[in-house]
Amino acid sequence: MGARRVELGFAEEACAWRLRSEQFPSKVGGRPAWLGESGLPAPAELRCGLCARPRALLLQLYALLPDRPEAFHRSLFVFACRGPACYRLSGPAPGSLSVFRNQLSRKNDTYSYDPPPEEPPPEGTPVSLQLKCGANLCRVCGCLGPKMCSKCHKASYCSRDHQIMDWKAGHKQSCAAAVIPDHKFLFPEYEIVIESEELESSDDNKVESDDNHTQVVAQEDEIHEEMESAHNPSKKKEGILHCFTK
Ligand SMILES: [Zn+2]
Ligand SMILES: [Zn+2]
Ligand SMILES: [Zn+2]
Repeated sequence: MGARRVELGFAEEACAWRLRSEQFPSKVGGRPAWLGESGLPAPAELRCGLCARPRALLLQLYALLPDRPEAFHRSLFVFACRGPACYRLSGPAPGSLSVFRNQLSRKNDTYSYDPPPEEPPPEGTPVSLQLKCGANLCRVCGCLGPKMCSKCHKASYCSRDHQIMDWKAGHKQSCAAAVIPDHKFLFPEYEIVIESEELESSDDNKVESDDNHTQVVAQEDEIHEEMESAHNPSKKKEGILHCFTK
């Protein structure tokens, strides 16, 4: 009898550090936790096809591909327009949603080859609005921000829309203010915790929850085994997947 694995995602509250790029998060809302620095969507690509305003990150899913060296780390980003008028009863209008992919090989210049630590970083490092390559990110949405405030030459924006939004939210009073105000643009941020379920591919598709529990525990044991030995390729794949997605 064949079994089908289904992954369920649950939105849960999480500490900010768990949702940073180096943790390879799956999350709803907030700023995008970009993986690689190349191939990020340009501001024009993030504009809504209907109202032309910048779309906000709705969710990102970390979906690594251990068998594909160039896409070992892979995240999919879904952006959605914030304007209610761009959604109709018949479903979202074309152009109000878009999906981007961002990927990296396991061996890269940005992240450790090994899975990220399970502990918080020693100090609360502020949100970084600059990529390692020097490119700036928009203060409002966290996407590429090639425009700069002409007064302070520090605050960057993806668009005039977001510069105005930040100007009205306090940048007008003080260019020097380091704290980023709440622009009410980002969607509320939650971690997406993914759990696997084994579905019997029988007629009733019944989920056996007790079996699931043993299944998860067994997989966790396998991770440790697999980190030591690379003899069984299929076991190895499962183990790597769990190390990076836990
Ligand atoms: Zn729109
Ligand atoms: Zn922006
Ligand atoms: Zn300024």
